[in-house]
Amino acid sequence: MTRVVVALGGNALGNNLKEQMIAVKTTAKSIADMIEAGYEVILTHGNGPQSGMIQLAMGELTAKDPETYPHVPLSVCVAMSQTYIGYDLQNALREELLDRGITKPVSTIATQVVVDKEDPAFLTPTKPIGRFMEKDEAELFAKEKGVQIMEDAGRGYRQVVASPKPIEIVEMETIKTLVADGQSVIACGGGGIPVTKEEGNHLKGAAAVIDKDYCSALLADLVDADMLVVLTAVEKVAINYGKPDQKDLGDVTVEEMRQYAKEGHFAPGSMLPKVEAGLQFASSKPGRKTLITLLEKAKDGIAGETGTVIHFE
Ligand code: ADP
Ligand code: MG
Repeated sequence: MTRVVVALGGNALGNNLKEQMIAVKTTAKSIADMIEAGYEVILTHGNGPQSGMIQLAMGELTAKDPETYPHVPLSVCVAMSQTYIGYDLQNALREELLDRGITKPVSTIATQVVVDKEDPAFLTPTKPIGRFMEKDEAELFAKEKGVQIMEDAGRGYRQVVASPKPIEIVEMETIKTLVADGQSVIACGGGGIPVTKEEGNHLKGAAAVIDKDYCSALLADLVDADMLVVLTAVEKVAINYGKPDQKDLGDVTVEEMRQYAKEGHFAPGSMLPKVEAGLQFASSKPGRKTLITLLEKAKDGIAGETGTVIHFE
């Protein structure tokens, strides 16, 4: 059986509660199509808008009444986002599968992911989260909260957090057990809850957001998947993206894709992490492939009919 790790992008979930409730229905259909076609699917997803929304809400509560509502760390906001998204997603998938006569348990694992305390990413935060602000407001926000801000691609100022690389998935044995039992699992949501290893057996939440694309590559490796499927808002990855000579990529080798990445064809923070994660997985073992395509095209993409596929050679 073909085992696939499917990483859902922002468009699979929407930007707010209302949008998410609608979006997960379409998403569940695409996933159910894959399951019905006989693929073994392990799910993961991003959490940019959701973690930002939760952090903002928590921050406002704290600002109003810090005695009653002390500061809620970012790791806790990521944890909340995992269950908030997982709840909607597992519910929608459960219903869609049952409607098709498929009785498969679906669950979400609150997943912690170990990062290195010494990861240089902690010194230079690169990941913008939360809402957009005017420069003055952002500067005040940064001073009051003791956080860093950055200008985000001409759209305004946002808080910026560290995005260290995922090293180890703490709940891996649980995920493997459920997968081996044929159950549907949603894991490593939002890249996982970032934790550092402390003295004894203690795991401490880190003020960071791990990139879900990198974590998906790690998860795909650890469950020994055949394919990493990164679902996003474009059917194919392009070179010269947005330019008159834009060219969509179909089948590419690891070597070819590395060259395109080196030439700077992929935007950091959007397509580059997908390509890098895809390269990491596809180059890790012969036979492994990465597919990057549209959510609606997932099943066709796995069948080799569309999307950008990165393969070993
Ligand atoms: P997700 O929420 O799925 O992670 P992102 O917005 O972070 O989505 O990244 C996917 C987006 O990256 C695409 O929808 C597209 O707008 C943009 N993009 C940047 N560079 C490229 C490229 N070279 N080819 C295709 N899409 C690109
Ligand atoms: Mg993204």
